[in-house]
Amino acid sequence: MSHILGIRFQLNASTIKGVWRLAGEEDGIPCVELESYPNDFVYASELRQEVDGFPYHYDLTDEELEERHAAITRRFEDPWALLQDFTALKTIEDLLAFLNATGHFCDPDVPIHEKPEWLFNAGDLRNGVTDFWELQELLAQMLLSRRPLVEVDQDALPLGWKEAFNAGFHFKIKKSFGEYIAEVNTHETLPSLIAVAQLKIMRGGRFRVCKRADCGRLFEYETRGRRENHYCSHLCAHTVWQRKTRKTKITVRDERRQFGYGIYAKNR
Ligand SMILES: [Zn+2]
Repeated sequence: MSHILGIRFQLNASTIKGVWRLAGEEDGIPCVELESYPNDFVYASELRQEVDGFPYHYDLTDEELEERHAAITRRFEDPWALLQDFTALKTIEDLLAFLNATGHFCDPDVPIHEKPEWLFNAGDLRNGVTDFWELQELLAQMLLSRRPLVEVDQDALPLGWKEAFNAGFHFKIKKSFGEYIAEVNTHETLPSLIAVAQLKIMRGGRFRVCKRADCGRLFEYETRGRRENHYCSHLCAHTVWQRKTRKTKITVRDERRQFGYGIYAKNR
């Protein structure tokens, strides 16, 4: 490929912690919802009470604000591992665990001081699980075909998610240990997943789906001087070998199949 990015990157990804729960069904599709959203933010001032009971507005100091921001922020130590985990989700239970371990996925693009309860009540923080399965497909499609841009079908994703694909990211050149690197900062889970996929592709990576049926993670493989590798890790390769020799049969619970998802392909 002629368009390989020769510079190393450092992706600083983070999101706001949050709590997700199941939220009924819509047209037969189970939904999940970021239920903690209205209380997840830090505000510059808050209502307090004088000793005599009178309420007043208290402005937080810079240190207090910084401390509170730090307390609600979750940094992703390894955004690539985050994407790999995301591509391996197969059930609603897995998805909920992933969302609760991460937090805000892709917030609606409105100023938070405009009553977060409204957004919540309007259903803007509620998604069908197929939205996430569709997203897995798009990320897999990007990586397997090594194209940093994908065609997102009209109506295939929530509007804000689609915008996240178009928004891209900025980078800043900085010097780290005598080397120039590109520093990228992303906020929330979805923009972080998109950025790490695009950066990995632009660095010239090649990717496969792990052949262990109950894994199915996307992984990057080496092309020089190594045997063909079909598994994401030694653990997966070893597990499959062990199952073969012991003739162990396994059944994989994949809830995506009922909606036509879960089979990653380069082109759809
Ligand atoms: Zn694997």
